[in-house]
Formats: sequence, structure tokens, C-alpha cells
Amino acid sequence: MQLTERIKKIPPYLFALVDKKKAEARAKGIDIIDLGIGDPDLPTPDFIVEEMVKAVRNPQNHNYPPYDGTLPFRTAVSQWFEHRFGVAIDPSTEVLSLIGSKEGIAHSFLTFLDAGDIALLPDPGYPAYQVNALIAGAIPYSVPATEATNYEPELDKIPAEIIAKAKILFLNYPSNPTGAVASDAFYEKAIAFAKQHNILICMDLAYSEVYFDGLKPKSILQFPGGKDVAIEFHTLSKTFNMTGWRIGMAVGNAEAVQALGKIKTNMDSGIFKAIQEAVIPALKDYQPFVDAQNKIYQLRRDIIVDGLNSLGWALQKPKATFYIWAPIPKGTTSEQFTIDLLDKTGILVVPGSGYGQYGEGYFRISITTPEPRLHEAIERLRTHNIRYTA
Ligand SMILES: *Cc1c(COP(=O)(O)O)cnc(C)c1O
Repeated sequence: MQLTERIKKIPPYLFALVDKKKAEARAKGIDIIDLGIGDPDLPTPDFIVEEMVKAVRNPQNHNYPPYDGTLPFRTAVSQWFEHRFGVAIDPSTEVLSLIGSKEGIAHSFLTFLDAGDIALLPDPGYPAYQVNALIAGAIPYSVPATEATNYEPELDKIPAEIIAKAKILFLNYPSNPTGAVASDAFYEKAIAFAKQHNILICMDLAYSEVYFDGLKPKSILQFPGGKDVAIEFHTLSKTFNMTGWRIGMAVGNAEAVQALGKIKTNMDSGIFKAIQEAVIPALKDYQPFVDAQNKIYQLRRDIIVDGLNSLGWALQKPKATFYIWAPIPKGTTSEQFTIDLLDKTGILVVPGSGYGQYGEGYFRISITTPEPRLHEAIERLRTHNIRYTA
């Protein structure tokens, strides 16, 4: 057998490595507190499960779905968008159903980049961007988005010859892994940058509904000119604890949405119609559930941030996402820190270097674990005298 150059270019999946370390620790009999992968521990709400039970019994839902999503689903998405972000969306041209947002993100590289084109990617950032750029034969270019600039990518510092070959700019707010949200000024700057250089903005809003203190994250489509230059990737995975169901949507510039749809029609056959039907009531009445869930995450966030700060860290509380991004103590690397931490304390976190070169020096904690275990994690750090020293 001969494998492709494409396959050889793909780095190992970050969480495959994390899972391996976890299995090794478990084999040694260590009681692991898993603060690694960002997969909600809470169940999908009953009001969605009950709709699904009804929908799955309807034989009309059993055949191929329309590739771009059922009209009732696309209409529910457009109504949700208008209600949530105050932006009118045409359900027939500006919405596309996705088999989870990762599917749409992956296909966007094939849709918007030819071989040799450059994709501008935030670093640290969600690893799927870089990998899918490589799979598409494009060239990923890391734009530093570090603490020094409030985790906003430094668009001004990208060399002109890179910009000349760039076709897309990926952005992700609220951010995985940093938990950062961008300022209004940044959205305006990004739109001007995209217009000036004829670059499409691909905005990943996986965490638009995981936020604290009532500060609702924004859509780039709310800003003047946003719809001219941007396509957004949304998902029900994180909002409604539905990571296993696989349902998301692309929303935004009609030409970009249609182009993505063209790739998709030739690659997949859409989402089980029962799932599309089951989420419609949730899109209509989302706020009470979102508020209740964010209260839980806020409590958890406070346990971790206050706990780490009592051990020498000086972290700000993130305004969104279920992640805490923290510097590692001096004198080690991200990877070594996480390996040692697991060995000594049984706490599993993700090394920042897994999110790009500018993630080195940090680690990511996911708070998708019940409060008692988070308290215990902080106590284990205290017992083993793991503290932050600059
Ligand atoms: C979880 C996640 C996704 C993918 O979610 P889906 O389940 O595929 O919808 C996309 N982007 C980021 C930043 C994520 O953390």
C-alpha cells in the first residue's frame, strides 16, 4: 500500500495523544480527574430528547434529507439568529445545515482554498483549522493571538507577501482554548482587513451560548459590512450538550454559504431529518436553558480560577467558554508539565502547545466535570504543592 503525501502531513490528533496518556495513567491505577477534552458532562435536555423520540417514529424522517437542511430547520435557524443577534438571515440562501460545525469547518478549506493558497489561522487555535488546511493542500499561516494582544490576532503584522496569497482568515470567539472574547474594535478592524485584501472571514462561534455575567458574545454579522465578508459556523453541540448528535449550521454571506453547499452536496447527504426536527423547539426557546446551564459553568469557573489564584496564579475570570487557559509554572514545557501533573496528581489537562506554537507555556483546563471533582483537583494541587511561580 502507498499512502498519500496528504496523509503524511497530518499531525497526530491532539486528543488521541491525550487519550493515550490517560489510558497509561489509568492502567497504573491512578484516579484521574479529567479536565482534558471539552465535551459537556451534562445531558442533552429532556425537551430535545422527547422531540427526538417523536421525530424518529415518523417514517417521513427516514429517507435522505435535503442536502442544505430541511426548510423548517433553516427557518428556525434564521429566526433564532434574528432573535439572538438582531440580524436578518434568508433561510433559503444564507443558512446551510452542517453535520456538526467541524464538518463545515473542514469543508470550508476545500471550498475556499486552492492548493498553495494561504489560510490565516489564530495561534493558539482549534487544531482542526491547521489540519484541514493541510488536507486541502493549502498553507496554514499562524497569526499570533496571545495574551499580549488580548488574544486578538495581530493582523497588522502579517507580511504583505503572505496577505497577497491569503484567501481566508479563521477567527474563533469566544475562543477555544483561551476563553477570550474579542472587542468590538477588533471585529471592525477584521472586516476592514477582509475588504481591503479580498479575504473571506470564517468565524467559528461554537461557544456563542456559553458565557458569563450576562455578556452575550457577538456575531460578526452584527457589524456593518460583516455579511459582505464573513461566513459563520454555529453548532448545537456545546449549547445543548449535543456533541454526539452532530448538528450545526453555517450562516452568513450567501455566495460563501452556497459555495460550501456545492462541496457538501458532493460529499455528504445531510443530517438525519429527525434530528433537525427535534431541535426546532430548542432554537425557539433557548434562553432559559442557556441561562441555567451558564450558571453551572460560572460556579465551576470560579472554583478553578479562585483555586488557582490561591496557589500563586493571577488569572482573570474568562467571560465565556468552559475553558480556563493558564500559564505553566516556570522551568518546564507545556507538555512536560501536563505529563508530570497527571503522574503526580491524576489531573488531566491539555498542553497549550497542542493549540499551536504560541500556546507553548500554557495549559488548558476544561470545566466539563462536576463541582466536587473540581474542588478535589484544587486540593490535589495544594497537597502536591503545585503552585505558579513566574
Ligand atoms: C467543539 C468545537 C467545534 C466543533 O463542534 P461540533 O461538535 O463539530 O459542532 C468547533 N470549533 C471549536 C472551537 C470547538 O471547540
